Amino acid sequence: MILLDGKAVASEIKQLLKKEINGYIKNGLRPPSLAVILVGDDPASNVYVKNKRESSEEVGINSLCLKLPSETTEEELLKLIEKLNNDDDIDGILVQLPLPPHIHTQKVIEAISPTKDVDGFHPLNMGKLATNVKDGVIPCTPLGIWLMLKHYKIPTFKKDVVIVGASNIVGKPMSLLFLKNEEATVTVCHRNTRDLKSHTLAAEILIVAVGKPKLITADMVQEGAVVIDVGINKLENGKLVGDTDFEKLKEKVSAITPVPGGVGPMTVASLLVNTVHLYRLRHGFPAHPLTEI
Ligand code: NAP
Repeated sequence: MILLDGKAVASEIKQLLKKEINGYIKNGLRPPSLAVILVGDDPASNVYVKNKRESSEEVGINSLCLKLPSETTEEELLKLIEKLNNDDDIDGILVQLPLPPHIHTQKVIEAISPTKDVDGFHPLNMGKLATNVKDGVIPCTPLGIWLMLKHYKIPTFKKDVVIVGASNIVGKPMSLLFLKNEEATVTVCHRNTRDLKSHTLAAEILIVAVGKPKLITADMVQEGAVVIDVGINKLENGKLVGDTDFEKLKEKVSAITPVPGGVGPMTVASLLVNTVHLYRLRHGFPAHPLTEI
C-alpha cells in the first residue's frame, strides 16, 4: 500500500516554483503577487489564510493579506476587488470562503477578474475547463489531486473513476479534469445517489469530497483501489479526519491519502502554481506547464 504523501509532493512543487521565481527576479522581473482577502474571524479560515500566506512567502510570492471585519458590506468588498483587479502589481486574488451570510458568494466570485481568479471558481474559468481551453485556471484541490496522481505515476487512462461529492470547488471540476482528453470514465455521486456503495465498489480510483467522517467504509471499496480522501472533519476530541475509515481501508487499497497530510498540502501547492501561472500569462509567457493536462 502506498501512502500518498501530499506534504512531500507539495514540498517538491514548492522547490520547483522557488527556482522558477528566482529566475524571473534574476531577469529583472518583479516577483508574482497574491492578494488574499479574509472577511470576519472564522478560526478555520484564519488558519487556512495563514498557511497560504506562509507558503507563498516560502517560494518568493509576495502575499498581501487583507483582513476585513465581519460587518464589511458586500459593496465594500466588491469595491476592494475592483481596486485589486485594476492593480497591475497583483497577479492573483483569493477571497477566503465561507463569507458572512449577508454577502452573496457567487456575486463576489464573479467580481474577480478571470485573469486574476487564482481559485479558478469564476464561471469563465470553469467554462474553459469544461471546454478544454488552455489558458484558464483549474481549481486548486482538483489540480492538486491530479498532480499527486501524476507524481506517483498512478495510471488514469481508461480507468473507472468515482467521485463522491459534487461541489463546484471539488467534485464537479475534478470530474472535468478526468474527462479532459477522454482520459477516464467518471461517475459523480452526490446526496441523491440511490445506492452509493454500488458505485464506490466499481471505482478503480475513488475520490471522496463530502465532509462526513467514515462515510466510506472498507466494504465500500474494491481490493487494490486508489483512494483520495479530500474531507476535513474535526472530531469532538480535536482530531482531524477525512471522509473514509482510513485505518480499515489502508489494509485493502493500493494507495490512499492520509488526513491531514494528503490533499490539503497539495491544494496549497496548487494555489501557488496558479499564482505563478497567472503571473506568466500577465507577462506574456505560456501557461504554466503544471497546469497543462
Ligand atoms: P460541499 O460544498 O459541502 O460539498 C459536499 C458535496 O457532497 C455536496 O455535493 C453534497 O451534496 C454532497 N453530499 C452530502 N452528503 C452526501 C452523502 N451522504 N453522500 C454523497 N454525497 C453527499 O463541500 P466541499 O467544499 O466540496 O468540501 C468537501 C469536504 O472536503 C469538506 O470536508 C471540506 O472541508 C473538504 N475540503 C478539503 C480540501 C483540502 O484541501 N483538503 C479542499 C476543499 C474541501 P449537497 O450539496 O446536496 O449537500
